[in-house]
Amino acid sequence: MEKQHAKFTKEMRSTHKILIPDMLPIHLKLLAAVMRKNGYNVELLQNSSRAVIDEGLKNVHNDTCYPALLVIGQFMDALKSGNYDLDKTALMITQTGGGCRASNYIHLLRKALEAEYPQIPVISFNFSNTESSDGFKFTLSMVFGMLNAVFYGDLMMALYNQCKPYEKNEGESDKVLDDCQAMLADKIVNGGFGKRNKNYKYILNAFSKIERTERNKPRVGIVGEIYVKYSPLANNNLEKFLLKEGCEPVVPGLMDYLLYCIINNVNDGKLYGFKNKMTRLSAILYKILIKMYRKLVKRVEQYGFNGMHDFEELRKEADELINQGVKMGEGWLITAEMGCLASSGTENIVCTQPFGCLPNHIVAKGMSRRVKEKYPDANIVAIDYDPSATNVNQENRLKLMIANIKDNAKL
Ligand code: SF4
Repeated sequence: MEKQHAKFTKEMRSTHKILIPDMLPIHLKLLAAVMRKNGYNVELLQNSSRAVIDEGLKNVHNDTCYPALLVIGQFMDALKSGNYDLDKTALMITQTGGGCRASNYIHLLRKALEAEYPQIPVISFNFSNTESSDGFKFTLSMVFGMLNAVFYGDLMMALYNQCKPYEKNEGESDKVLDDCQAMLADKIVNGGFGKRNKNYKYILNAFSKIERTERNKPRVGIVGEIYVKYSPLANNNLEKFLLKEGCEPVVPGLMDYLLYCIINNVNDGKLYGFKNKMTRLSAILYKILIKMYRKLVKRVEQYGFNGMHDFEELRKEADELINQGVKMGEGWLITAEMGCLASSGTENIVCTQPFGCLPNHIVAKGMSRRVKEKYPDANIVAIDYDPSATNVNQENRLKLMIANIKDNAKL
């Protein structure tokens, strides 16, 4: 039985700093701003040295999946840094509520804290009623703010990846990204996101003004387990590496993952023959979000950029390649993303796989043959990420992949 653990109380909202692991550099800055606006004193962790991995190895069993090891290692390393008042610090971690271990990271983290930091409360960030605390509650405005943050994050990530490889003036895309993030964070702090369409226009105008060369670099898609796919700490700066090697990274947005979680509730009801509040709410939310996403994609395309995938297309790919009932880990989403990338001209795909992640090995590497049967030109390279894998090894495999792409295209 789990021991009694410290709780995050209402009073702690004004006294405690909440540490959050940084998984998506672009999105989480905005999500953190939404939380600050709602009265939480949050800080995104940026520590990323080898000490993070070592702390992870010390504090969780070594057969635990790599994302758990990194997230817990990053927390423990931060607590030991001397930068925080340990009596006024809380930690926040996500709980997916699915059947996968991501629902249980929180228990591993509490176990790691038991001996040295029993006073530190851990807050569960979840939408599945797995755990709640008196001091942290979602409000409607906070949830809307977070959804907006995901839309803006996906938009900026897509535009940045289409501008950065071709910018004529080095660093211009980074400046524009910083400027857009600052504009949005300012709006959040000063009373909300303002008008969504106006903000989209601002971002699209800013990126489209970047002077660029012709768009002719090999596009390389990134798919995989959600943490390793996005986190530079976990994937050894994969996006930067691809940029340095003369590629254009294509990274599916976070909204895909949210829609995947929401539609899975609806699918469960259909597959197992039931209807409840959750299935009904999910069906409504799905319709609203997909409509908003489509409007955004249309705007992106009007500016001459490639839009993000239409989620209904992803579901169609899933139906042809796998089955929407496969939902452990990132489930059918990974297979469908590989299919959609291949069908839309991004045949070269890096599939990021963390150590210890059985579900995603099955739906990613395990499904690559099926994807290749449908798309013979698909070139899928699975890269393993674990505490002992050196980036030299990973980079050599990526370099080989890139050399082959360039050879084939005679670039
Ligand atoms: S999806 Fe994989 S990495 Fe994530 S919790 Fe499940 S087993 Fe671990």
